[in-house]
Amino acid sequence: MEPRNDGEGDSEEIKAKVKNKKQGCKNEEVLAVLGHELGHWKLGHTVKNIIISQMNSFLCFFLFAVLIGRKELFAAFGFYDCQPTLIGLLIIFQFIFSPYNEVLSFCLTVLSRRFEFQADAFAKKLGKAKDLYSALIKLNKDNLGFPVSDWLFSMWHYSHPPLLERLQALRSTKQD
Ligand SMILES: [Zn+2]
Repeated sequence: MEPRNDGEGDSEEIKAKVKNKKQGCKNEEVLAVLGHELGHWKLGHTVKNIIISQMNSFLCFFLFAVLIGRKELFAAFGFYDCQPTLIGLLIIFQFIFSPYNEVLSFCLTVLSRRFEFQADAFAKKLGKAKDLYSALIKLNKDNLGFPVSDWLFSMWHYSHPPLLERLQALRSTKQD
């Protein structure tokens, strides 16, 4: 029993330490983050994303309707005499659309990062540049975000710009 108790005590100590390490944001910083989110709303980012996703759905279903009747597609996968719809769905959405989906997701990631910079600039226009600056650092620290990122990796994968780029953008707008 005793060593187990010791172990539990240790883990609680570690938990308390981790808790103390969390910084949290001050009210002004929370307000600055809210300013950023309001920027997304004011600049119509949500509406733009909805329109893009609706157009994408329409395009996918349109292409699906065109392709589902093609016998060659099914024959390529060994279905010579029948054309099961489920197999058609798999072939078209998983194989035919896969290069298109890669390109689309890259474009959406680029767009998303653009929107983030615009929302940051909006918060700056509200006079929240300084508080957003420190809030971004605290949030990155609390979320154990790694501050350095490879430009090629972040360009392909990150929906939000790397912390240092956002801080640099905030700083450069701060001066003018
Ligand atoms: Zn944002």
